[in-house]
Amino acid sequence: MKTRIYSIFLLLTFAVTSIASAQSQGYDSHKTFDPTFLNNPGTQYRSGSGAPGPAYWQNEADYQIHVKLDPEQSRISATDQINYTNNSPDPLPYVWLQLDQNIFSKNGKSRSMRGNASSNGKEYGYDITSVTVKQNGKTVKADYRIAGTRMQIKLPETLKAKGGKVQMNIEYAYNVSPRFLRTGRMESKDGPMFSIAQWYPRMCVYDDVRGWNTLPYLGSGEFYLEYGNFDYYVTVPWDMIVVGSGELQNPKDVLTQEEQQRLDKARNSDETVSIIKADEVGDKDMRPKHSGTLTWHFNIQNARDIAWSASKAYIWDAARINLPSGRKALAMSAYPKESMGKNMWNRATQYVKKTLEYNSKQWFEYPWDTAVCTVEPGGGMEYPGIVFVAWKDSGARLWNVITHEYGHNWYPMTVGSQERRYAWMDEGFNTFIDILSTQNFNNGEWGNYAPWVTDPEKLADNMEEENDPIMTRPDASDEVGLIGYNKPGLGLYILRQYILGPDRFDYAFRKYTHDWAFKHPTPKDFFRTMNNASGENLNWFWKEWFYTTWTLDQSVEDVHYKNQNPSDGAYITIKNNNQMVMPATVKVWESNGHSGTKDLPVEIWQRGGTWTFQYNSTSKIDSVKIDPNNQLPDVKLSNNTWKPMGQ
Ligand SMILES: [Zn+2]
Repeated sequence: MKTRIYSIFLLLTFAVTSIASAQSQGYDSHKTFDPTFLNNPGTQYRSGSGAPGPAYWQNEADYQIHVKLDPEQSRISATDQINYTNNSPDPLPYVWLQLDQNIFSKNGKSRSMRGNASSNGKEYGYDITSVTVKQNGKTVKADYRIAGTRMQIKLPETLKAKGGKVQMNIEYAYNVSPRFLRTGRMESKDGPMFSIAQWYPRMCVYDDVRGWNTLPYLGSGEFYLEYGNFDYYVTVPWDMIVVGSGELQNPKDVLTQEEQQRLDKARNSDETVSIIKADEVGDKDMRPKHSGTLTWHFNIQNARDIAWSASKAYIWDAARINLPSGRKALAMSAYPKESMGKNMWNRATQYVKKTLEYNSKQWFEYPWDTAVCTVEPGGGMEYPGIVFVAWKDSGARLWNVITHEYGHNWYPMTVGSQERRYAWMDEGFNTFIDILSTQNFNNGEWGNYAPWVTDPEKLADNMEEENDPIMTRPDASDEVGLIGYNKPGLGLYILRQYILGPDRFDYAFRKYTHDWAFKHPTPKDFFRTMNNASGENLNWFWKEWFYTTWTLDQSVEDVHYKNQNPSDGAYITIKNNNQMVMPATVKVWESNGHSGTKDLPVEIWQRGGTWTFQYNSTSKIDSVKIDPNNQLPDVKLSNNTWKPMGQ
């Protein structure tokens, strides 16, 4: 998700500059190089190496959903069939479901956190009319209770461990919120646009770490979801176009011959092909029938969620995506006329295509066959195979949001982390991969994705002891922009560019992505994988960067010459003043024009905060600078450079 991160961050940058430079913490090497950190043994579920263990399991949730949209009433009614398999070693007497749509309801915790949906007299949140459970061939009315955005179903018979199956059928309806929070309704001049998400009751994750993950949906923390197969049918008035997660199964029923031919052409074209052109919006000839409703059938396999969007206002574009294995997928965008213009949505399909092609090559092949980009009012939001992006964005902002939301199709849509607890495992990882995908796009057309991330000085201005640590749950922090996106994004960037180098970093990050694709990694699985695959014990870095708010202050303290003679060599003393450590790079300039650089590993700080090394000088030293390329978030730059007394 992306909501006004830019402006929030810029405000912070200017507000805290003076405070950050005033602090000094001192340094205790035992705290940073903590022998107790990450030293618990691996389990049969999660190996010490960070890979899934030999007995790793996860449960499966498959869905068949029939949904009808009434645009006049702005109301959705649906039947949701969930086929749930308990692969865990534990018998389950009850199951928990997520009712995210209840965030708009007037009852429950979410309202006190986020405010009510609307004061127009309508009720929002799920209106559930029937819940049944089918187990061992018998169907009974379910014994259930609702707690805000959660529902517990007490099963008639305990669900057996290691393969027990249960089917739940839920009939429900709800009024689509006029206030857009990751889902809702917008108005364009050619008709309303419905972007529909968090729209069906779905399983909470039961895992080996915490059992049932039942944290409520309060608005900031996103979603932790089981993988499974989705088959869904969206019924809308005949004149609406529907795009959604997964592949359209019945083009012959819902598209004209002309539209089907254009789609076939797009499947073989690297250039964008129009399926519905701007001047065809609202044209009856573009619809296969002219009254009643049409049902659009979609299917997506091995996904963790589905969303869809419907409007009669949509222009529809598509182009082929070329994947590393030779497989082809289809990039698409659906948007109203208002989204057209210079560097606006006419380019969206190409942005989707290029993002998917780059990330597939760099990290892991995009697993699904279609990828569509459609509209929302302000920021952006991600789902498997579909993203919602601000419909009036243009220029760098439009590229940034599309590449960001589609970056989420790797983290967390493919690598299914616990987003509600750890925003950094999707937003931070994604911020990092967006930097690379933006550098790669069209010879860097849109510049630097995250100047506030890749310029460590800017981040240093925001790093204070009073911040929340990255590990803070997003619902428990006012600093989600910093701790969810920017600090973890910069952390990975420093790890790649400065600490490990791209080769070692990329191998380890790909290993994590492959090992945990379609699974549920924890932070420690990530840390252990990076340690193992890079061969470097990075525990000092994980601890300081992710668990604490320590700051970095490296300095050059002293230079003196061997035998008081500069041509015999020099002893240079550097210091680590605060609790965070980093490897040290020191550059030396001599009066005879020579210069040289010394790279010192992080291990120099294991025995204390001061380090003296020999430098083979040949003449008097004019200046010495630590972190000469400004790669680190040093909070006090004034002590980074040494010059002889009097200069
Ligand atoms: Zn995001």
